[in-house]
Amino acid sequence: MNLKKAFNLFLSYFLRWTGFPVEPTLLKIGNPTKESPVLVTCNFNLTVKRVLKAVKNIDCYLLIAPSKGINVWCGACGDDFHTDSVLSIIKTSGIDDLVAHRTLILPQLSAPGINPTVIKKKSGWNVKFGPVYAKDIPSYIEQDFSKSEAHRIVRFPISNRLEMASLYFFLLLLLTSVIYWIVAIFLPILNLLLFLDTILIFVGLIYGPMLILPSITWKTGKQKIWIYEVIILLIILLFNLFIRFDLLYLIWNIVASLLITMIMAEDLHGLTPIFKSELGEKTWEKGGEKMKFLFSEYKLQPYGQIILERDKCIGCIVCIEVCPRNLYVFNEKDEKVDLRNSEKCINCNACVKRCLAQCLEIK
Ligand code: SF4
Ligand code: SF4
Repeated sequence: MNLKKAFNLFLSYFLRWTGFPVEPTLLKIGNPTKESPVLVTCNFNLTVKRVLKAVKNIDCYLLIAPSKGINVWCGACGDDFHTDSVLSIIKTSGIDDLVAHRTLILPQLSAPGINPTVIKKKSGWNVKFGPVYAKDIPSYIEQDFSKSEAHRIVRFPISNRLEMASLYFFLLLLLTSVIYWIVAIFLPILNLLLFLDTILIFVGLIYGPMLILPSITWKTGKQKIWIYEVIILLIILLFNLFIRFDLLYLIWNIVASLLITMIMAEDLHGLTPIFKSELGEKTWEKGGEKMKFLFSEYKLQPYGQIILERDKCIGCIVCIEVCPRNLYVFNEKDEKVDLRNSEKCINCNACVKRCLAQCLEIK
């Protein structure tokens, strides 16, 4: 890997909020035939890299659809990766002439934004929502395009948590550095040692909670972060009172810790795929729809309790296929679904938007 590529990779990891697009296109992987699978993904460069790595030994076609360089889930929830993205790449790629079948495999997490009914109607292509993770594409194809429970569930393992913590750390460090050194011009009391203290606080307060989040099982969201914050504050207090004896450092450390904790707690919903924060709900309650210029649409979906009107259910099992928390089970007795553990719903809206009988609602 040359230096330019390594730098681009670094930027696309740590500044992914800004979007890192590759050209929408059709790629032939291996030696695809008229019967080969057609996969679709978004045009965020890291996602494309991951999909290419996963399918390198499979003869298939890969359609890279426009999503403004945003990843699949954020793009689908924030209206950057949508039905028209898929329709446009079908039209411009010429895939119609390359295969004999009419089935597209899309990532499961694209479900909030992609409407298979409209795609079928406008292009004649059927949409199947494949596994959540690109690495599972080979086993999904091996299992004759059927998803196991493991293919459907979104997880947040330590590698992902550290990746998200690093994104956050880098962004906050960048912002803080700029603000800190501008303020330091007018306030000489701010010095390098104090700034290094701030970096240490960032490390503790950003990486720490992300490492232990799943272990605090008795609370969710904001409360988890605040529990952690109290522990850190106590450590700061004891260190400054009994070892360093410096009031300036003590005040600065407390202020910095509180600020970081507030940001982490409020953005937890966007930061992690499975832990809720209460900000989205509160923003929504207070008419957040009017503040789209401040918050992404992802956070402005209705928040609340997922409700199933079971009488209306037609047993199409679309909700089972798209729910990343695996909250639906098919009931063979009356051929409808049951909703279980609804408190684990992360309000992604995939089931609500894709339910064929419109019997799901978040309120
Ligand atoms: S039940 Fe909740 S988590 Fe599952 S698909 Fe529906 S909105 Fe998403
Ligand atoms: S998607 Fe709607 S209609 Fe289909 S099984 Fe689920 S709840 Fe029932």
